[in-house]
Amino acid sequence: MTVTTVTAEREQELLQSVPTGLLIDGAWRDASSGKTLDVHDPATGKVLLSIQDGNSDDAMAALDAAAAAQRDWALTAPRERAEILRRGFDLVTERAEDFALLMTLEMGKPLAEARGEVTYGAEFLRWFSEETVRHYGRYFTSPEGKNKMIVTHKPVGPSLLITPWNFPLAMATRKVAPAVAAGCTMVLKPAKLTPLTSMLFAQVMQEAGLPAGVLNVVAGSSASAISGPLMKDSRLRKVSFTGSTPVGVKLMQDAANNVLRTSMELGGNAPFLVFADADLDAAVEGAMAAKMRNMGEACTAANRFLVHEDVAVEFKAKFAAALQALNPARGTEPESTVGPIIDGGARDDIHQLVQDSVAAGAEVVTGGQPKDGDGYFYIPTLLSVGNDNPILSEEIFGPVAPVTTFATEEEAIELANASQYGLASYIYTKDVNTMFRVSEQIEFGLVGFNAGVISNASAPFGGVKQSGLGREGGAEGIEEYTTVQYIGMADPYAAKR
Ligand code: NAP
Repeated sequence: MTVTTVTAEREQELLQSVPTGLLIDGAWRDASSGKTLDVHDPATGKVLLSIQDGNSDDAMAALDAAAAAQRDWALTAPRERAEILRRGFDLVTERAEDFALLMTLEMGKPLAEARGEVTYGAEFLRWFSEETVRHYGRYFTSPEGKNKMIVTHKPVGPSLLITPWNFPLAMATRKVAPAVAAGCTMVLKPAKLTPLTSMLFAQVMQEAGLPAGVLNVVAGSSASAISGPLMKDSRLRKVSFTGSTPVGVKLMQDAANNVLRTSMELGGNAPFLVFADADLDAAVEGAMAAKMRNMGEACTAANRFLVHEDVAVEFKAKFAAALQALNPARGTEPESTVGPIIDGGARDDIHQLVQDSVAAGAEVVTGGQPKDGDGYFYIPTLLSVGNDNPILSEEIFGPVAPVTTFATEEEAIELANASQYGLASYIYTKDVNTMFRVSEQIEFGLVGFNAGVISNASAPFGGVKQSGLGREGGAEGIEEYTTVQYIGMADPYAAKR
């Protein structure tokens, strides 16, 4: 891959190719209000594009289309749905450079990371293409021999998919692909800060052959105006949400009134445990990936570094040196290794957490400040903290690594579990028995063992406690979009038994 600065002409050419309307019933439309919404580049603060600002009327039109398309879509052959997904994978892969640049422009991550997200995000299309035709039920004789039992799966029905801004492609494919595989129609509501990637993705899925009404996309300035009326409508059967815990809780309350199926991928506060026997260079490499990927704006981001006291000084020195070697710059620049924070408010929140942590006794080993100049950059930061520092109980969502120490395995487990969240966790040790003992006792849906990045389309992704309900990806992902039907059939041989 040649590494060159992206030209302004290339950026404009790409932006002009992105649909900016609302996708409803197979057509790109203007918002019924006539209003538009600006999308910004977080590296410069400048407007990239204006898109149509969808509201509740547009959301209802999208649900009308999804509900009307549901019956026929559910009856399509699994192979047909599988091949649409496979073509979607091929088309996203062919246009990988466009998707990567678009994500860098609207979200800020360095191009190399955006390319990684295209690979990861596209894989959900290929994985669920394969799962579509291998989604089996059961057929068996009832225990007393009177009936034949048939257990089969049906699509749950029209689904509302709400995605966050931090992984604009992967969070959409992780929901759309299993919904297509299961035979559900859907309304996708991307985050208003990064809607462009979802729009390009929806256009690609149209090209891949997705029929009108199956995937509808409504972005807008008021998320609740879009989701609110749909959540009350009895034609909606499911809500799948990725985002913060408070919004997820509110959606679960709304879902209860309409008895909707829910999948909730919520916040995280991942512990990163380094035991005394760990390979420290590998642990620092893993720490950099687990903390710094996506500028720390990931639900799986390592948020609390818990390091055995015998190796803490060496770990902190190596980790600080690796953080100092990073280069915060616009993600389109070849030398950029850290992009900007998503907006000014989020950067201020991160700085406030650092200041509060310092006021509570943290030592700034490196960083600790926003970066001067355009955009919303924050200098990669390492804090040495006591294990009661308030920053350990906050989801930082930025390039700030608090490191604290433990003396015993029991203490490490207790510190790891001292969080309302339970999504990702990381364990560095050379002893597989330590890994098994600790994994057994920590309350997290995902465990990285000597690995700083473990998300994979083939694995069940999801958390426990305040991190949510349900799993995306893996064999489990399609189940979230299906409902079970049991047919009890009189057994013709029952009389002979
Ligand atoms: P957020 O504020 O909760 O927003 C997520 C999505 O929900 C966006 O599309 C947002 O729309 C929408 N939304 C906001 N308020 C809503 C409401 N009242 N009703 C309906 N929808 C509403 O979260 P975020 O700041 O975008 O993302 C960061 C959070 O997501 C972090 O907590 C992170 O851990 C979590 N996350 C979790 C996972 C996971 O898989 N567990 C993955 C990624 C991120 P607008 O943006 O348009 O307002």
